[in-house]
Amino acid sequence: MTPRVAVISFDVEQDCPPYLDSARGVEEGLPRILELLAEERVRATFFFTAEMARRFPRLARRVVDEGHELGSHGYRHERLDRLPRSEAARVLERSTSILRGYGEVKVFRAPNLKLPENLLPVLAKLGYRVDSSTARYKPPFPRRVEKHGPLVRVPVSVTSSVLRLPWRLQRPLHGALAPPRVYFSHPWEYVDMSREPVRLDCRFNTGEPALELLRRLIRFLRGEGYMLATLCEAVRMLGHDVEC
Ligand SMILES: [Zn+2]
Repeated sequence: MTPRVAVISFDVEQDCPPYLDSARGVEEGLPRILELLAEERVRATFFFTAEMARRFPRLARRVVDEGHELGSHGYRHERLDRLPRSEAARVLERSTSILRGYGEVKVFRAPNLKLPENLLPVLAKLGYRVDSSTARYKPPFPRRVEKHGPLVRVPVSVTSSVLRLPWRLQRPLHGALAPPRVYFSHPWEYVDMSREPVRLDCRFNTGEPALELLRRLIRFLRGEGYMLATLCEAVRMLGHDVEC
């Protein structure tokens, strides 16, 4: 039986790309997320764009110092599926070498969960061991964790805005998810975006309500007997031989 393991992850990027270019989420939201995780004693995975790590180096270091896992989310949140392969490979190389200035980086998630398969060998060569660029709710609807050469591919379970639905609506959705449950959201969801000129799903229940819902989710998962782990640790718990 698959162990009951859940991963809380964050894609650390500009606010609601591609609509805004501000970084309120990283500046104001990320510290709040870190406080909440410390209070709840949860270690999570943070996929940084290299740009955000460079702009907020102290936060990137703090993530690592507080025991969380650092991953890559590209350089400037560019859509890798819209770049020629050689250019996309350069983006991966450059962002990886910048992020490794802050800590070990072995896990990857492509912006918009769009990773052309022909970039998997590039990730493997750069020393990545886990890719989380697929989603159970997007074609080809991967159901399980899969080995792909030296990489283990772990699909995310639900889209981020689900975590901001009123609890009575989201609770039954979690129950339907098979382990490993991989959640993701973004620092900008934890600052009040209600007045920003962006589409509704980038605004509703952002800020304090999102933080409280995240706390509720963590406690709910524990109540259901789920272990909360970083992505790499979860992959190990599932029996894959990766070093974390
Ligand atoms: Zn992203």
